[in-house]
Amino acid sequence: MTLRTRLFASYMLLLIVALLVLGGTLLLFFSRQAAPPQATFQRLAVLVQALNVRDVLRSLTPTQQTSRRAVEQVRDVLDEFAQTRDVRVLWLVQADERQLILHDSSGTFADDHPLVITDDRFFSTALERTLGGNARQLYGSFQNPDGSVWLFGGVSRTFTTPRRQEVINTLLLAEPAPTASLQDVLSQFYGAIVPPLLQAAGIGLLVAFVLALLISRSVARPLQNLVSAVRAVTRGQYDHDVPEEGVREVRALARAFNHMRAEVQRTQNAQRDFLANVSHDLKTPLASIQGYAQAIYEGVAHDPAEAARIIQDEAARLNRMVSEVTDLIRLQAGSMPFQRVPLNIAELVEGIVTRLRVVAERKNLTLSTNLSSVPTLYGDGDRLAQVVTNLLSNAIKYTPSGGHVLVSLVPEGQSVRLTVRDNGVGIPPAELERIFERFYQVDKARGSQRGTGLGLAIAREIVQAHGGTLTAESAGINQGAAFHVLLPLQSA
Ligand code: ADP
Repeated sequence: MTLRTRLFASYMLLLIVALLVLGGTLLLFFSRQAAPPQATFQRLAVLVQALNVRDVLRSLTPTQQTSRRAVEQVRDVLDEFAQTRDVRVLWLVQADERQLILHDSSGTFADDHPLVITDDRFFSTALERTLGGNARQLYGSFQNPDGSVWLFGGVSRTFTTPRRQEVINTLLLAEPAPTASLQDVLSQFYGAIVPPLLQAAGIGLLVAFVLALLISRSVARPLQNLVSAVRAVTRGQYDHDVPEEGVREVRALARAFNHMRAEVQRTQNAQRDFLANVSHDLKTPLASIQGYAQAIYEGVAHDPAEAARIIQDEAARLNRMVSEVTDLIRLQAGSMPFQRVPLNIAELVEGIVTRLRVVAERKNLTLSTNLSSVPTLYGDGDRLAQVVTNLLSNAIKYTPSGGHVLVSLVPEGQSVRLTVRDNGVGIPPAELERIFERFYQVDKARGSQRGTGLGLAIAREIVQAHGGTLTAESAGINQGAAFHVLLPLQSA
């Protein structure tokens, strides 16, 4: 299933679930809710106007109320109205806080029967102010003896009898309260509601489809780019970065991929260079061995002893190179075993200086030391000796006759700093980091003593394996150079 289909399907599902939940909740609500009485009240209000209740009541003066004939006349008017308008009319009088029936057009309540009515606050307050003086409109409900509820609208009017008694006459027009639920009422509108609902669902579908399309495109396109990039890497093509676009997670993936691609490319290049360098650097001594050996064999060598010496030198160089390459590979693979023993580093440096002093003096160099006593250090003595020897022989090698070399050792915080400083040929600033690369030599042609370009790479690996750092410093060509080894005291 494609991303787009999956997104579209999940939107659909969401839409359907949302509609079902919403519809279900509304149905449940409507089916439990009675239809509002407002429509009945509205109808009754119109009838109240038609009956002209005010006039009917106004005609009932207090004196006339006692007159049987007048009362009968009102009853007739009310009955006739009830009949023609198909509505129930009740006439009540309030006495001692109770409403007593004076007449009920339906004949349900006998005369003088007390009736309890409930005001509908919401509807009556809206219309109350339309009548002035001592009359007021009222809307509400009462219960029939059979339990059915009736809604009424009407007017009540207050009279004061000659004996200063307050009498309240009320005329009510009543209809049975609707028993239908809100759902029944609404069901009349279903025909009208369904088409717009379907339309809305259709629009929802369309929106979902467009959204699915947009989102899937923003996610799928960068992912497809990544897939092609991964395929390219599989084919060995490392040159192209994937653009970092799309949603955040996909961008993070693209960034991680680009990083990985760059790393793989770097390692691949380094390995290729390494192999090329090894074979190139092995070729030179081999060629000269072959040349001199052939010359001796053919008897054309001017000085066979000298030729044999050169062959021996070159073979020694080859030997050194092979063992250095092996060292380096083992160091980088982390498979070189290191012994951690307490070391007197000052003693170790002193020993190496003594050994190399002969070489320095032969070259007419001054070799001086400044070795402070430093705390005991844990490390591999042979390997650290290899580092110091490399730095010191480099200093001797790259310093012309008459120059001087200084080896110093000082404690520095929780570390020990060893510096080998010379005033020799120096290193151009741009090369300061490169000299630590495998096989890198500032100027391959310079100097009679050709090296391998592996010494510093190995030295740095050893120092780093001890948790320390090895850095170079030089003001430029012929400005001398200094190499700093910083070793932590506690490196377990
Ligand atoms: P090499 O066997 O060529 O000496 P290294 O890895 O020990 O290999 O050194 C790499 C390069 O760094 C050297 O070829 C040289 O150009 C430069 N270098 C090392 N030490 C010094 C120094 N003390 N002064 C100037 N250049 C140096």
